[in-house]
Amino acid sequence: MATEGQTLEQQLEELLDDEKFSPSEDFVEQAVITDPKIYEQGEDYEAFWAERAEALHWDTKWEQVLDWSNPPFAKWFVGGKLNVSYNCLDRHVEAGNGGRVAYHWRGEEGEELDVTYADLHSDVQKFANALKSLGVRKGDVVAVYLPMIPEVAVAMLACARIGAIHNVVFGGFSAESVRERIEFSEAKILITVDGARRKGKTAPIKENVDEVIGDLVDTIVVVKRSDNDAPMKAGRDHWYGELLEAADADCPPEPMDAEDPLYILYTSGSTAKPKGILHTTGGYLTGVAYTHAAVFDLKPEEDIYWCAADVGWVTGHSYIIYGPLANGTTSVMYEGAPDYPGKDIWWEIVERYKVTIMYCAPTAIRACMKWGVEHPASHDLSSLRLLGTVGEPINPKAWLWYWKVVGGGRCPIVDTWWQTETGGVMITTLPALLDAKPGSAGKPLPGIEAAVVDEEGNDAGTEQGYLVLKRPWPSMLRTLYKEDDRFVETYWNKFGKDTYLVGDAARRDEDGYFWIIGRIDDVVNVSGHRLSTAEVESAIVSHGKVAEAAVIGQADEDTGQAITAFVTLEGDLDGTDELIAEIREKVADRIGKFARPKRIIWADDLPKTRSGKIMRRLLRDIAEGRELGDVTTLRDPSVMAQLEGKIKERD
Ligand code: ATP
Ligand code: MG
Repeated sequence: MATEGQTLEQQLEELLDDEKFSPSEDFVEQAVITDPKIYEQGEDYEAFWAERAEALHWDTKWEQVLDWSNPPFAKWFVGGKLNVSYNCLDRHVEAGNGGRVAYHWRGEEGEELDVTYADLHSDVQKFANALKSLGVRKGDVVAVYLPMIPEVAVAMLACARIGAIHNVVFGGFSAESVRERIEFSEAKILITVDGARRKGKTAPIKENVDEVIGDLVDTIVVVKRSDNDAPMKAGRDHWYGELLEAADADCPPEPMDAEDPLYILYTSGSTAKPKGILHTTGGYLTGVAYTHAAVFDLKPEEDIYWCAADVGWVTGHSYIIYGPLANGTTSVMYEGAPDYPGKDIWWEIVERYKVTIMYCAPTAIRACMKWGVEHPASHDLSSLRLLGTVGEPINPKAWLWYWKVVGGGRCPIVDTWWQTETGGVMITTLPALLDAKPGSAGKPLPGIEAAVVDEEGNDAGTEQGYLVLKRPWPSMLRTLYKEDDRFVETYWNKFGKDTYLVGDAARRDEDGYFWIIGRIDDVVNVSGHRLSTAEVESAIVSHGKVAEAAVIGQADEDTGQAITAFVTLEGDLDGTDELIAEIREKVADRIGKFARPKRIIWADDLPKTRSGKIMRRLLRDIAEGRELGDVTTLRDPSVMAQLEGKIKERD
């Protein structure tokens, strides 16, 4: 272990040799799930999931746990009826927990608001009645385009209460992307905001919407958040606050069929045009409630849980809204950016609310590393007891930084692998039962069967191959909205109708741990060596001066494919030829000479989706001089222009 007098860099470098990190005795002692038998119980997966479903309130119990007679179209808890908003709110209020805080909301300028379960319960009923009075019926699609404010939870739960299907569009997307998604999902009503704050500025959201919406929707509900005098069209536009005031207080929850749709959500578009994932009611809630409690070792009476994602992507749906509320959790909901008003805002929030469980993305951790250790170091983070990551493979250096600097070497880290499609976590380490291996997500959760297979669908042993899921699971997507054929084609064609093709490449080690390598399309073949882009990126990032790297394969006359690396440096460092040589050397050391990048392009930033994932397909496009593919989900389109400039400069 680290000794006194070492720099952080040296300590992390040394820790890189440690393969496994066990939870401390203290952690295990207090943990909820400590009996490894749970993995065996998961083998009888229908019985296992039925038992998890019992934890919810059902108005009518199901007759059949799973109907898999028409794969890949699954039906879970057939004949069962329940209401998601009842399970998330009424249940807790009736149990005497209405006074418990559901969200410690924190505004970007430091405003604070505690929203209790009773508050949500009351607003959700009123807003559900308001939606009804606007003509929204069971089965209608409601588009939601809101920032991270409590009203977004109210809007989603109000839809769930009356059986409307929400389609939440990330608040940072352009109005144009909203229009597209509304068109596609045929939503007749949009819930949005007059203006949304971002880093001290207010974006005129309603005005932007008006410019593109035409007469696509009949009704727009506007939450008032600014004083920018948003234009309101008589007859079509309504203020959220006025609707709430006028609405009846009681709205009984609509008993929904277990298989009634709950929501549509678009994937982040890293690999292709976004897909409209459809999730349903009973299975989804069973899946997210169980995984949220199990993976995060949740104790609802004690924990302060913070998922720093945005509600606009699936992590927010499952682990800010539905999982936590179903479990009666107290969460933090934060409106702003991780670097505004200062780069220590996240750590200030942890200290302020005494956050015990924190869940974020590797990209955010790498940003924090880049900003410097002084920011977390200036706050008391001792309340933390468990950390989580999601969204992409985490390189060991970032894992160790998170573990050491944020978790104080005390907190297990759960690296959770899952997708919009899976609804909830599929592969991770149950924190008291399994050691963590930095860079590996861990093992399939009880009830889930994952495998790595070769081109023919045979078990790939410890070789790299296709990650697949071999059993249906309750929170699985039911289809792509209005695109059944694309659903079958994308996920169920390669290995047959009962094997779900994930789209990620992975490897399973001797201990049964899964190492997610990246997207199937993100594998590079250099002189016959199949390499994952993530492996090379990890090697590059292990150089002390490198903050982030993205690697792609480019056609090459000599080697078939050659590696091009886009590299961003720590702080304000400039790229030099010396640094290029050092980076190439690092890769040679860690992987082999053949893996050394042929080209290194210095980048101020990398093209990322709104959820923080690097879009390698766009990097491939510009490196090979092609027209850029779909860029609608890009966070900052100016990054591409800047990179194109750099490439021209070099060539
Ligand atoms: P699209 O499918 O439109 O290309 P996307 O796959 O980026 O978009 P999401 O559903 O948000 O959209 O992301 C799921 C993907 O993220 C997974 O398939 C995987 O590639 C990656 N991922 C998520 N969590 C992890 C993790 N813990 N480790 C490694 N990869 C992860
Ligand atoms: Mg995907």
